[in-house]
Amino acid sequence: MPGEFDLIARYFAPATAQRDDVVLGIGDDCALLSVPAGKQLAVSMDTLVCGRHFTEDADPRALGHKALAVNLSDLAAMGAQPAWVTLSLTLPSADEPWLAAFIEGFAALAAQYGVQLVGGDTTRGPLAIGVQIHGFVEPGQVLTRSGAKPGDLLYVSGTLGDAGLALLAAQGWYVRDGALPFLRERLDRPLPRLALGQRALGVASAAIDLSDGLASDLQHICAASGVAAQVQLAELPLSAAVSDYVRETGDWSVALGSGDDYELLLCVPAALQGDFEQSVAGMDVPLTCIGWLEAGSGVRAIHPNGETEEVSGGYDHFKN
Ligand code: ADP
Ligand code: MG
Repeated sequence: MPGEFDLIARYFAPATAQRDDVVLGIGDDCALLSVPAGKQLAVSMDTLVCGRHFTEDADPRALGHKALAVNLSDLAAMGAQPAWVTLSLTLPSADEPWLAAFIEGFAALAAQYGVQLVGGDTTRGPLAIGVQIHGFVEPGQVLTRSGAKPGDLLYVSGTLGDAGLALLAAQGWYVRDGALPFLRERLDRPLPRLALGQRALGVASAAIDLSDGLASDLQHICAASGVAAQVQLAELPLSAAVSDYVRETGDWSVALGSGDDYELLLCVPAALQGDFEQSVAGMDVPLTCIGWLEAGSGVRAIHPNGETEEVSGGYDHFKN
């Protein structure tokens, strides 16, 4: 795809960060990269497919941002430091303005986090975007899903359910005046919580990023760590619009079961609660304690009236 390839070489590579540890970037058969001595590589990939993860009319600038953001969010969940990224683009046609806008969104976020695009692949076909991210960790200094223990406290960053409510609003659900741009922004331009993940190193026992929704992502922690979770619904951090939704419908599924928020869920040993709150103090990210872990298995929600509900299977009736 000569047209697209020229664009990538001309605009894309220079627009992302330029790093000293990239010996050879885009242009040869492979990139050559130097992992700093003593560090380990953290690698993850996520694919966005048109019709499944976004619609055909999606803003290409937002797509470029989101394709990278969801990958950076995986690094954030491990407390890793982002470094390099590769990009697999499958494009239906040579649409220069589309590609230029996509690049702009992608490269702006890459530059913000010092990430360099070092290679990729470009093919013709139904629109799909695959991104592989590479970051660094100190050996043993990492947040996994499996380190949580009974007694740990559960914290989440930001607010829950905004991206899910944005999708409902797109299907016609009425949201309060002025809320739509905020919800759209939360769905289209998630902010990877990289600084938070790094600050939580050494204090949090486990972490995961919320891509599928609190109920199912928390269940991943419970399964990997061999613990049970109790979530107090009254404590869930909700934006005004999601609060309205829960009050009007009595349905918590938008907060518990909808994905795409890309907030972090952190498990913190109760004895380290003070240390944790100190290490995240002054950050621009609201953190809320929403529950705790116990011996056992499964995720239980405690309703404001005290009733409990098993939600381990995922809170699926929301999903369509
Ligand atoms: P090859 O034929 O050896 O697979 P390509 O012609 O596909 O090489 O790609 C040439 C160079 O351009 C490689 O360095 C590759 O990593 C880079 N490249 C191709 N597509 C992309 C893309 N979408 N994003 C970033 N780099 C790309
Ligand atoms: Mg080759």
